[in-house]
Amino acid sequence: MKNYFKSFFLYELLLGMKVTFLNMFKKKITLRYPEEKAPQSPRFRGLHALRRYPNGEERCIGCKLCEAVCPALAISIDTEERNDGTRRTTKYDIDLFKCIFCGFCEEACPVDAIVETRIYEYHFEERGENIMKKSDLLKIGEKYEKEIAADLTSKI
Ligand code: SF4
Ligand code: SF4
Repeated sequence: MKNYFKSFFLYELLLGMKVTFLNMFKKKITLRYPEEKAPQSPRFRGLHALRRYPNGEERCIGCKLCEAVCPALAISIDTEERNDGTRRTTKYDIDLFKCIFCGFCEEACPVDAIVETRIYEYHFEERGENIMKKSDLLKIGEKYEKEIAADLTSKI
């Protein structure tokens, strides 16, 4: 009988509407993305970047520690020795389809050359664009250097 009356008076429906009604007066927790964005931590691990020193010199010394530590085998590096005896990369590729954004490469780098930025809004239109080349990574580093440097300082 109890169940019969409950279904007759739409008890479950009213119960559900009560929850909806009570939530109408609570603080909204949904965001209207992309106009509104969620706050980000300085430790956020987004798109990679390669950094330069203030004098324009590449930080990366081609030690390949990032390549060795990458659990997804996403990094591929070739190096050569310059005329001045220093070593620099001739190829620095990151396959973003393989990358799991673990941040190990950033942690392994002895000169803070490879970093993960706060960028998470990007897409690919052509086959092969998932492989970020050295020139792409350096461009991102140049564009966001101020933000990257500030985030690295706040992590210490
Ligand atoms: S974030 Fe992790 S998976 Fe991605 S390239 Fe760096 S070490 Fe590899
Ligand atoms: S990015 Fe850092 S860890 Fe990777 S090869 Fe360059 S210097 Fe070494």
